[in-house]
Amino acid sequence: MEYIYDDLLERVWTNLPEELKSKPRFEMPEVKTNVQGKQTILMNFNEIADAFQREPQHVLLYLIKELAAPAIYDGKKAVIQRRLKRSMIEEKIKKYADEYVFCHECHRPDTKITELKGEKIIKCTACGGWWPLKKIK
Ligand SMILES: [Zn+2]
Repeated sequence: MEYIYDDLLERVWTNLPEELKSKPRFEMPEVKTNVQGKQTILMNFNEIADAFQREPQHVLLYLIKELAAPAIYDGKKAVIQRRLKRSMIEEKIKKYADEYVFCHECHRPDTKITELKGEKIIKCTACGGWWPLKKIK
């Protein structure tokens, strides 16, 4: 399975225009979870927030709302008060990345949260595109 996926990536990569190749590829850390009793521990939560260059508390708040479960962050791990499948958490993290990390125009991950006329926005440092920072509710 993995060979096929790598192969595909390789082919996509080979066909990319040169200017896109100069940027390092984004590597999404593997989501590592561990269910303990009624809790699910997201073992490498800090790595994920780091990779996204987002405040861990922002990512955590999103997960709390999306998974409808309380959670805490201890500086490395996130402890979610609910038994969850790894795939479920992974899916929510991907959704977070689509809304808050990957540029809505050029789809690169080089974005940051900033302000424009007092409004919080997410701005892409690669193409200059931006969109309003959606409130997590
Ligand atoms: Zn962009």
